[in-house]
Amino acid sequence: MPGAYEIGRDGLAALLADQPTYRVDQVWRGLYEQTRRPEEMTDLPRALRSRLEVALPPALRLVTERRADRGATVKWLWALADGATVETVFMRYPDRATVCVSSQAGCAMGCTFCATGQAGFTRHLGVGEIVEQVVAARRAAAAEDAAGAPGAACRLSNVVFMGMGEPLANYDRTWGAVTRIHDELGLSARHITISTVGVVPGIRRLATEDLPVNLAVSLHAANDDLRDGLVPLNKRYPLSVLVEACRSYLAAKGRRLSFEWALIAGVNDRARDAVELAELARPLGAHVNLIPLNPTPGYPVRGTDPAGVREFRDRLGELGVNATVRRNRGTEIDAACGQLAARAAGDMAAPAAAPAAVQAAVPVAVPVAVPVVR
Ligand code: SAH
Ligand code: SF4
Repeated sequence: MPGAYEIGRDGLAALLADQPTYRVDQVWRGLYEQTRRPEEMTDLPRALRSRLEVALPPALRLVTERRADRGATVKWLWALADGATVETVFMRYPDRATVCVSSQAGCAMGCTFCATGQAGFTRHLGVGEIVEQVVAARRAAAAEDAAGAPGAACRLSNVVFMGMGEPLANYDRTWGAVTRIHDELGLSARHITISTVGVVPGIRRLATEDLPVNLAVSLHAANDDLRDGLVPLNKRYPLSVLVEACRSYLAAKGRRLSFEWALIAGVNDRARDAVELAELARPLGAHVNLIPLNPTPGYPVRGTDPAGVREFRDRLGELGVNATVRRNRGTEIDAACGQLAARAAGDMAAPAAAPAAVQAAVPVAVPVAVPVVR
């Protein structure tokens, strides 16, 4: 079953081969410009609508929706056709609205501190499964506006690949989705950000593409010994190689590079960590996004406290590096990278209680990392 946003225009034309040719445009516009499901395309004959409803089913089935920040942050957990689960977070502000999408169910990169990494890899998402997350955000914004939700909020303006999975390990489908989001949903490349843990061949390939998307690299450590322990991929692509790939991306695209840094108490928030990071970031003109680590069951280490986060930011500033502390959003819903999916899986399996030490280390309310994208 291809799914409404998996199928390309040619596939749609084949599906509508028995129809007048203008129907292809009509349905395509219905899907992308109006973000309607086939059954909502009331301008189509009823029989055709019913046929398309069966032929182009939604790829995402809602399992849970959780809201925070008086409804401005919403997190969806979806089940895919084969039962795999992924999550999407949508954050609305007066001046922008950002959707954070997943690119894989699970992740094979095994970063020690990450809930998705701890759960392991299930499978790649298809183009349609990624695009439909963006469509869900656009539909949700339109529905809220139609319902007269209080406060001015922006329409969907930014897409960040910072949900579950490593987008550059699923390159072709990620790029297929980026192209669709740009060409058909009308978002500009500078409003699309790909976050990677450092898949160097993927960064090099990105540099050859036409669309100059933003690149965010999840660094977390600026020396190889420390990074090897946090991000296993560093053993394959050590910092010198990663930095060189970032440099060529910058040279090719002229886009601002950002480094993500999850501050872990006593691990990467020391004075010398700031010095190492500054030495690496300054020559690249990279911007640093700081967020305190969200403890996860497999890595129950505390995030740096707010004062320590500010101190680290200020230290970077003194060393000539711009850094932003990410605003936390969604403090009462489950959080970063894979945690909602992990909890839902746990609920279904009704596991034995976690050891007390782990329970104590995992806060009930975990903040959602808000990507800083302008
Ligand atoms: N795989 C890609 C994109 C998804 S992860 C990547 O790693 O960049 C999105 C972001 O969440 C990354 O910056 C990642 O390092 C961060 N992250 C993962 N687990 C986290 C945690 N427990 N606390 C804070 N940030 C976390
Ligand atoms: Fe995968 Fe990113 Fe999590 Fe690392 S941080 S395990 S790359 S999702």
